[in-house]
Amino acid sequence: MNRIIFLFFINIIIAINACSQNTKVVEKAPQQEVETQVIAAKKATNNDLGERFPKKLEKVEKTEEEWREILTVEEYRILREEGTERAFTGKYWDNKKAGTYYCSACGLALFESETKFKSGTGWPSFYQPIKKEYVGEKTDNKYGWNRTEVVCGRCDGHLGHVFDDGPAPTGLRYCINGNILTFQANE
Ligand SMILES: [Zn+2]
Repeated sequence: MNRIIFLFFINIIIAINACSQNTKVVEKAPQQEVETQVIAAKKATNNDLGERFPKKLEKVEKTEEEWREILTVEEYRILREEGTERAFTGKYWDNKKAGTYYCSACGLALFESETKFKSGTGWPSFYQPIKKEYVGEKTDNKYGWNRTEVVCGRCDGHLGHVFDDGPAPTGLRYCINGNILTFQANE
């Protein structure tokens, strides 16, 4: 009889353990969050990132395989395959905080919040980059349009396009994919 009671308790203990393990699985961070943490850790230890405001730009060159290792699927699609996020769905299009926007691939400082303006397009829009050489330009004739593509001056990643219908003082509108930017608020 004692043995039956003993086995009964052992079963209960096993059941409780199984339950608590299940709870732990549920409490685990969502996949996206885990992925972001992994990438943040990779970037923190990536010595190739270089300075954020370099006086002299030195190109960051990696193989496509290396880029895939450090970028999220979405970042890779935009930066390396000239993708575009859907309007009003990306990061920062509605961000009004004061701070600096960096390239998520190489860490170069690209835009300051003072030059950000409300364009109504659903993408973060700026009237000028931090330094002219920090943002490169390329002609883009895709889809029969004659547009000017803008790329990161250091890693050549695709950022978006620049148009000449922006506000003063430059009259330019840098239409940028928010999902490839990393924003850091001023302290
Ligand atoms: Zn870059």
